[in-house]
Amino acid sequence: MPVPNSPKYVYAFAEGNKDLKDLLGGKGANLAEMSNLGLPVPPGFTITTEACRAYLAGGEEPTGLRGEVDAHLAALEERMGRRLGQPDDPLLVSVRSGAAFSMPGMMDTVLNIGLSDASVDGLAAQAGDERFAWDSYRRLIQMFGKTVLGVDGELFEERLESAKDAKGAASDLDLDASDLRSLVTAYKELVAKEAGQDFPQDPRTQLDLAVRAVFSSWNGERARLYRRQERIPDDLGTAVNIVAMVFGNLGADSGTGVAFTRDPATGKQGVYGDYLANAQGEDVVAGIRNTVSLADLERLDKSSYDQLLDIMRTLEDHYRDLCDIEFTIERGTLWMLQTRVGKRTAEAAFRIAAQLVDQGLIDEDEALRRVTGAQLAQLMFPRFAERTERTERAGASGDGPDAGDDGDFRPIARGIAASPGAAVGRAVFDQDTAVEWANNGDRVILVRRETNPDDLAGMVAAEGILTSRGGKTSHAAVVARGMGKTCVCGAESLDVDPGRRRFTAPGGIEVGEGDVISVDGTSGCVYLGEAPVVPSAVVDYFEGRTAPTDGESDALVPAVHRIMAHADARRRLRVRANADTGEDAERALRFGAEGIGLLRTEHMFLGERRKHVERLVLADTDDGRTAALDALLPLQRRDFADVLAAMDGLPVTIRLLDPPLHEFLPDLTDLSVRVALAEARGEEDADDRALLDAVRRLHEQNPMLGLRGVRLGLVIPGLFAMQIRAIAEAAAERVREGGTPHAEIMVPLVGGVQELEIIRDEAHSVFAAVAEETGAEVSFPVGTMIELPRAALTAGQIAEAAEFFSFGTNDLTQTTWGFSRDDVEASFFTAYLDAGIFGVSPFETLDRDGVGRLVALAVSEGRATRPDLALGVCGEHGGDPESVRFFHDVGLDYVSCSPFRLPVARLEAGRAAVARDGGKGGDTR
Ligand code: PEP
Ligand code: MG
Repeated sequence: MPVPNSPKYVYAFAEGNKDLKDLLGGKGANLAEMSNLGLPVPPGFTITTEACRAYLAGGEEPTGLRGEVDAHLAALEERMGRRLGQPDDPLLVSVRSGAAFSMPGMMDTVLNIGLSDASVDGLAAQAGDERFAWDSYRRLIQMFGKTVLGVDGELFEERLESAKDAKGAASDLDLDASDLRSLVTAYKELVAKEAGQDFPQDPRTQLDLAVRAVFSSWNGERARLYRRQERIPDDLGTAVNIVAMVFGNLGADSGTGVAFTRDPATGKQGVYGDYLANAQGEDVVAGIRNTVSLADLERLDKSSYDQLLDIMRTLEDHYRDLCDIEFTIERGTLWMLQTRVGKRTAEAAFRIAAQLVDQGLIDEDEALRRVTGAQLAQLMFPRFAERTERTERAGASGDGPDAGDDGDFRPIARGIAASPGAAVGRAVFDQDTAVEWANNGDRVILVRRETNPDDLAGMVAAEGILTSRGGKTSHAAVVARGMGKTCVCGAESLDVDPGRRRFTAPGGIEVGEGDVISVDGTSGCVYLGEAPVVPSAVVDYFEGRTAPTDGESDALVPAVHRIMAHADARRRLRVRANADTGEDAERALRFGAEGIGLLRTEHMFLGERRKHVERLVLADTDDGRTAALDALLPLQRRDFADVLAAMDGLPVTIRLLDPPLHEFLPDLTDLSVRVALAEARGEEDADDRALLDAVRRLHEQNPMLGLRGVRLGLVIPGLFAMQIRAIAEAAAERVREGGTPHAEIMVPLVGGVQELEIIRDEAHSVFAAVAEETGAEVSFPVGTMIELPRAALTAGQIAEAAEFFSFGTNDLTQTTWGFSRDDVEASFFTAYLDAGIFGVSPFETLDRDGVGRLVALAVSEGRATRPDLALGVCGEHGGDPESVRFFHDVGLDYVSCSPFRLPVARLEAGRAAVARDGGKGGDTR
């Protein structure tokens, strides 16, 4: 019982419930919930996360814990009618870790605690099965030795294999009681040698050591790294569940299984699962013997099967969601060992949410909470055809067709699904070949052991990237995701030999340079041959190529359509697109844009138009400069007219020229060589020489921090005025044609209000002039990007001159962190991610703590000056699910992102609006 003034450290299942995850961990909370629902859960109790925290802080069990465990154990013994490890009839228990979040690196389950030399015969007599008792004992020593005493698990496996070899046994089931008894002896010797201590024979010592090992696993290296990367606080601790053992290894009428209440892959209704007769614990998932399906269980044990189905219905109705469960049948009696809301694919998430609405189990707000923008993004990549997935499943069970059999591909390996999509191409092993072949029109897949910044050009050229080493934060994974390129990494079964330009897959399959392979960045599967790729049905729907109601109401597209419609109805944030051309604008509209939040004008200065920029730079008189600008004006006017027409009636934020001028001029080295060669030939070209001087003059060590943005507009007279005039004239033309243009003039890289004031005044003069010339009412809001820390810090002043702010979070991240946005992701971010400095690149997900504070400050100080200040964001973060949440919270009016990411932004804006935590982000379930 609890010691006075000390917290209660142990809860019987009857005392807990599913909402106590923080205290009892996910597993403990759900075991309690199932017990309370009257489901057949073996009795047990949970040691709280608080006890773990106290143990980790003090280095020993907190006062009171031992007494509470004594009392709960005594109650358990009383209920079961036998004592832990009682020689003639031992009570055995399992010890399982269970934190509030499931995470890698936590201690595995230990089963059969309480068994010893003294009680193994008692267990045999009670069960009437000697083999079972010795099998249970050898499993205990193996699990305990590995997870509690830290003995290498492989050493146990080796001894098990040699026992099977000695007997000529194919499976562990072929070992009899005396074989297992010998194995126990061998295991005990192994423990004594490797752990430097004997396997403990005292049942309570076994229990205490196992509990301690669970506590300590919280601070294991893998668990800590995972928490740092996922931003899970380090001080949560794990709970420990102690549960009376039930046995699936008591013969043919016993077994163990896992099941899902719906198909977690497709979301299809109906139960799915695997069952393994005469087995215990991890046997089902470890693949040591072939499992059978739940349908077969119906044949084997109809009454348990019916009861299981009944229980699954109860769980679904209760949790109002897909549940996954673990169960054991002991001599015809069904026991529930675990349940939780099950993980699912993106497709299943949407379909199940729609089904549950149809079943009246959840409302539409809840359906919206149950899907994520990341899942929607996954559904928008092309994928391999259904047939490929079938082949993969067949391949996984060892009877897949040969490449020549069913079409011309077959699965050969599986790695980590690092960046989604489906890519097919010829295997290449170095970047030069990748670039060369891609330039010749070949599709290539770059195959490396791992990538580094030197592979960048090859990665750009490739359709997809495959590596044999590294995880989700490896260089290959990070860079590929950044480029939106398909990537499978860490396919460790592949032996990549770049020197010989080939890799070897399991079974000795050799794949050489030029052989066609297919990589599935969504599943991690690698195929030899060309697997057929199908476009995304969800993109077809957004593009308007398929009707939203095609198929059953819970089919993927109708489910996405319903949830998107609800998100649109609920969201407060508006969505705009980053689009530069009429064509982009049209696509953006199809994808739900309510305007353009960023029209970058730099592409309008490239190609044929470079020559005008060169003239502008070279002009040494006002007339020369005016002539160059006059040449650009009509071209710009046409560009703007196109977009204003496509977005008629909707806001179009046009950003004045941002990049440094030298980006539009010839490369310094190329030009120097050209001039030097010409001089050597005595054919000096005066224009080239002047251009070279100008390029030298404009050369900057740090162009990103140099003459760009508003600085350019202030230093090159007439440049911004020309752009503003082109906008005003294009708008006047639209008005004449009966259109309703809503341009907004956006000034980039402002750091101080004075910069903006000059451009604003210039804009107002141009508007007045064009209005007078054309007779059309052309006056548009002038605002600024907030993309420098100084702009954010002086937002109150800047708002005096700005009618709107748009946060340029790309530059704001670059300048706040001091990270060069073009360099760091490919150079040292991998090291930063591996070290857990951040879990995701701040260029991908907004850094709330730093950059986010600047945004929040600018919002509040800007609005304090000008209450009707319009606020948006147009950096890449505008389409990132996590960041959209933040922009909702901080009170922006809209987010702007590339057209392809608009649906994700719409969905996340809707989710932010219905979030139970008031939009603070994170999983709301
Ligand atoms: C930004 O900096 O966030 C932005 C949108 O501008 P650009 O990416 O063009 O610098
Ligand atoms: Mg910028």
